[in-house]
Amino acid sequence: NSLKIMGEMEALLSSNNLDKEVQVVKTGCFGLCAEGPIVVVYPEGAMYTRVEVSDVKEIVEEHLLKGRIVKRLLAGDKVAEDISKSLDGVEFFTRQTRIALRNCGRINPENIDEYIAFDGYKALERVLTEMTPERVIDTMKQSGLRGRGGAGFPTGMKWSFAAQQVNDIKYVCCNADEGDPGAFMDRSVLEGDPHSLIEAMAIAGFAIGSSQGFIYVRAEYPIAVKRLQIAIEQAKEYGLLGDNILGTGFKFDLELRLGAGAFVCGEETALMTSIEGHRGEPRPRPPFPAVKGLWQKPSILNNVETYANIPVIILKGAEWFSGIGTEKSKGTKVFALGGKINNTGLVEVPMGTTLREVVYDIGGGIPKGKAFKAAQMGGPSGGCVPVQHLDVHIDYDSLISIGAMMGSGGLIVMDEDTCMVDIAKFFLEFTVDESCGKCPPCRIGTKRMLEILTKITEGKGEEGDIEKLEELAKNIKTSALCGLGQTAPNPVLSTIRYFRDEYEAHIYEKR
Ligand code: SF4
Repeated sequence: NSLKIMGEMEALLSSNNLDKEVQVVKTGCFGLCAEGPIVVVYPEGAMYTRVEVSDVKEIVEEHLLKGRIVKRLLAGDKVAEDISKSLDGVEFFTRQTRIALRNCGRINPENIDEYIAFDGYKALERVLTEMTPERVIDTMKQSGLRGRGGAGFPTGMKWSFAAQQVNDIKYVCCNADEGDPGAFMDRSVLEGDPHSLIEAMAIAGFAIGSSQGFIYVRAEYPIAVKRLQIAIEQAKEYGLLGDNILGTGFKFDLELRLGAGAFVCGEETALMTSIEGHRGEPRPRPPFPAVKGLWQKPSILNNVETYANIPVIILKGAEWFSGIGTEKSKGTKVFALGGKINNTGLVEVPMGTTLREVVYDIGGGIPKGKAFKAAQMGGPSGGCVPVQHLDVHIDYDSLISIGAMMGSGGLIVMDEDTCMVDIAKFFLEFTVDESCGKCPPCRIGTKRMLEILTKITEGKGEEGDIEKLEELAKNIKTSALCGLGQTAPNPVLSTIRYFRDEYEAHIYEKR
């Protein structure tokens, strides 16, 4: 539909002799998925939502020819008459702090000049001309940036481990293999702002002493793959990748590797094994990738969102970044809001924001006035946050303390009608399907758990089943080889913890 709207817009601009004055630009995702397709008209920054092809005529004739904003199309009734000069006038955005998503929806991701116009590649220039690798790593450490892929490991520390290794060959890798059900945070950055990733990876290369990077991106993201390819070519043309970046003598190149849709390849050692051309199975750690990673060389791996923060940290400083968020969780976090929520979409909020603010103030609450029951955070590795914890502050430690986790950023909201046993079963089915089968606790244990859960949901549960689930979960968590297996029981454990009565009702009342 968006492409049809674009075609209609171009045709009407041409027939009204406006095609020389007004440019139609395709951007990445704005984040406000529930209100799409979206058209923003500059310089006013008027954001038109739920635009139909039939609305284009009015936008051209009223706004572009007569300078009158089409109020009925402005971002819902949430927006005052005079939308301000930028997207900041839309309530959905005013409550957010967009660092990783700063350019998404603002620039044409296929045009490097637009990225450069918004300070793109300035951080790389600063790093190469004014900083030492040690200072770059110190900046990362002082910023407090932690990995956004799920584990929350401090980025500066990871980089310093790899930098300390003495080796002529080191690698910088990016995990762009986003595979959690309901997660599309990285996709938005890849499609909407691919240069931010390229710039950050070059900065990481300089910091650890690497001249080669790999982006492991899932093949199911064809637009992301295409835009990354275009962005890499453009960066090479501009001397921002290659043998002598910005004439400083620093060499760094990037290649794409396409993942074939295996969730386990998001695990760092499996991802590296897959880049090497083998079946994507995890390897035991230690040795950790910073010591022996890709092809046994020191390597770092960060995810897309982590990298997207880095150029801004370099430009605005560690102190600025560490001033956002909480004591132990700095900066912002991007969430993909889905499930039973009015404003489905992508949001970026300062760490420490409460779940209630995300669900009600930004997400617009639950459709049809239904009650909030729980939110699943962290996808199949995470847990649910029930209504009594709606005021939990979203940061790494607070979420873990209540049995959930930040994860990569999937946030699925459930209303009063949702069966939590079904939710646990849904996530466990996913991990059973995605287990690589290398180690028995995960390969066999999760299957047994799923059999018990299926029995319970079919009304065939027996006394003792809940305890069996807990026992199996405990054993799998402590003995599985990689993070996939170690976290697979989490959705079951957290739903038992908060909604045991629903399990019991299935078993004893056979519902
Ligand atoms: Fe494979 Fe699961 Fe073992 Fe990880 S825990 S190595 S996914 S079988």
